[in-house]
Amino acid sequence: VIEIHDLHKSYGNLEVLKGVDLTAPRGHVISLIGSSGSGKSTLLRCCNLLEDSQQGEIRFEGEAVHWKGHGLHRHPADRAQVTRIRTNLSMVFQQFNLWSHMTILQNVMEAPVTVLKRDPKEVEEKARYYLAKVGIADKAEAWPAQLSGGQQQRAAIARALCMEPRALLFDEPTSALDPELEQEVVKVIKALADEGRTMILVTHDMRLAADCSDHVIFLHMGRIEEQGPPDRLFGNPQTERLRGFLSATA
Ligand code: ATP
Ligand code: MG
Repeated sequence: VIEIHDLHKSYGNLEVLKGVDLTAPRGHVISLIGSSGSGKSTLLRCCNLLEDSQQGEIRFEGEAVHWKGHGLHRHPADRAQVTRIRTNLSMVFQQFNLWSHMTILQNVMEAPVTVLKRDPKEVEEKARYYLAKVGIADKAEAWPAQLSGGQQQRAAIARALCMEPRALLFDEPTSALDPELEQEVVKVIKALADEGRTMILVTHDMRLAADCSDHVIFLHMGRIEEQGPPDRLFGNPQTERLRGFLSATA
């Protein structure tokens, strides 16, 4: 679904991604791990073109992103392409960002109705289906403030699913939650992985990465230091840096 080749990204003089490759084939779960500041969120934001880049290629479903400009000022050129890619890669953030003035159901329905111009009746049916899927069907008419953090995050996942995207991008979806609430969100993510959804998951939860990924990428200072299947990466890390990282997070 997504292929990235030799991606470079700088903020001013600070080079945050120094030539990164990433492939997320259909039905695979790719996890990104690494210390704070290693570039995980930046890479994820590049995937759905929330960030421009200085060098490198991004393909979505085989179609290359058209860039305009050069060097520091290179950004995606084709608005229609950007919209198409973004609506097909739904992102779930650490902070759930639900609209507080809308009910949970309205939150989940908003983008498919306003962005994709889908029929509200059909969207409502889908929204209720996805709310049930994440286990909060009974909260459809509630306001975000009336939900626990774990329920809010599950609502945010339902909202991403309601776009029926080609892939889901998660940026530390459990890190704002208390440990008990974390598990209910982990369960939803694992269920989505079992369904064969394509996902890229930035996480500090090594157990989650080990349990649900097909491939794990360890980023260190904007480079891929080590990558591979979770069994090998966690069971038999090759580099000193990954060994250090894993023992620090254990
Ligand atoms: P964390 O685990 O803390 O979320 P991360 O791996 O997601 O870290 P990024 O958010 O990708 O790291 O940031 C990588 C580097 O880019 C950091 O040094 C950060 O300070 C810098 N950075 C991120 N966003 C910006 C921005 N908008 N402007 C300038 N620098 C930025
Ligand atoms: Mg981050």
